[in-house]
Amino acid sequence: MNTIQAIRGMNDVLPGDVSAWQHVERHARTLLGTYGYEEIRPPMVERTELFRRSIGEVTDIVEKEMYTFDDRNGESLTLRPECTASVVRAAIEHGLLRTPGRRVWTMGPMFRYERPQKGRYRQFHQIDVELLGVAEPSAEAELILMTRRLWKALGVSGLALELNSLGSRDIQARYRTRLAEYFSAHAPALDEDSLRRLETNPLRILDSKNPSMQTLIEEAPRIVDEHDGDARAHFDRLLATLDEAGVEYRVNPRIVRGLDYYTGTVFEWTTGELGAQGAVCGGGRYDNLVAEIGGPASPAIGFAIGLERLVALLKAQSVELPAARPHAYLAAAGARASILAHAVAERLRDAVPELCLVVDAGHGSFKAKLRRADRSGARIALVLGEEEAGSGRIAVKDLRARGPQSVVSIDELADHVTRNVFAG
Ligand code: ATP
Ligand code: MG
Repeated sequence: MNTIQAIRGMNDVLPGDVSAWQHVERHARTLLGTYGYEEIRPPMVERTELFRRSIGEVTDIVEKEMYTFDDRNGESLTLRPECTASVVRAAIEHGLLRTPGRRVWTMGPMFRYERPQKGRYRQFHQIDVELLGVAEPSAEAELILMTRRLWKALGVSGLALELNSLGSRDIQARYRTRLAEYFSAHAPALDEDSLRRLETNPLRILDSKNPSMQTLIEEAPRIVDEHDGDARAHFDRLLATLDEAGVEYRVNPRIVRGLDYYTGTVFEWTTGELGAQGAVCGGGRYDNLVAEIGGPASPAIGFAIGLERLVALLKAQSVELPAARPHAYLAAAGARASILAHAVAERLRDAVPELCLVVDAGHGSFKAKLRRADRSGARIALVLGEEEAGSGRIAVKDLRARGPQSVVSIDELADHVTRNVFAG
């Protein structure tokens, strides 16, 4: 019979990799808590309408990347391709916006039907962070400083911050007209997608990944040249705040981001160490989104970290991770010893709750079990044979020191283990 395999672009995270994921998750959770962010867990499926309205009809995500289906009632639902829209929907629905300066985060899988390649998958994971109700550049600064601190806590280095400011909807409308003029003048050089977008959403032409379009895009008018006094003042205050806090950055007028809801500041953290998929974190301000999906007018800003890429960076930089090794490995062989093994183990767990203990009381010889004990990376092996079982004792073998084993009474085992495993 054929074996059944995972869906292309959707990965299993195997036990050997989980320690890196947990390292990231643990640090992110702690750090977000210290900045006053609370966890929120929206569902993974939403009405399709939510994403059409927020991300925008004429974007890669909505046009060709969503996993959309009709449920049994004929309602169109979509597996979330990102979760800012879900968090904002939840915040509106549950009145979270009544407290300005609401800080929330969430973590989990997102789904996009993209072409799978290194760093780009169809199910991928994000840590998503949103600060709702703060219009001042202080919000941008907080998010950026928090991400900088996270990279440091995780032990990754070399991530570069790039920033741009898209300005208000009015500025974007003026810019759209300028872009449309520019690209119309170069219509023969446009690919099919871009020609269509020229009519519907010229800003999205700037997202094109088509190499033959890149020179044209490089030379396109820049949104910063459309900025009014307010947009410029906001951005300047942000840059001054970052300068004061010693953050290095580069203003990159080409960053427009692939979603329509952004207004004002946008930013990305990128690395050159992961090949073409170098953006590890992206975000920005979306001051109109809350109202656009039916909530009270409210400024907001957020970012998302791509976990697969961050974990890949951790590996590329050989960041040392806490090892997932048991402290002790209990090897029991023989009928009576096998029965006794779990009782002994439970007594030990009662006495030493933080002990990580693997019990091997199934079939097999001592030799095989001790080999497995070695392979597990445990510090000590607890060896329980028929003879020990009969006399209420157990042998303790130090797997690193390779010295002689000691035999202790089961009553004294907890003390002995505490002394030997946790004392050094
Ligand atoms: P990219 O330009 O790489 O397509 P994006 O601008 O579409 O990224 P966002 O929607 O802003 O990305 O998502 C934030 C982060 O999520 C990205 O910086 C990236 O780290 C990660 N990410 C986005 N799409 C994928 C994907 N298909 N597979 C893995 N990670 C992804
Ligand atoms: Mg993308």
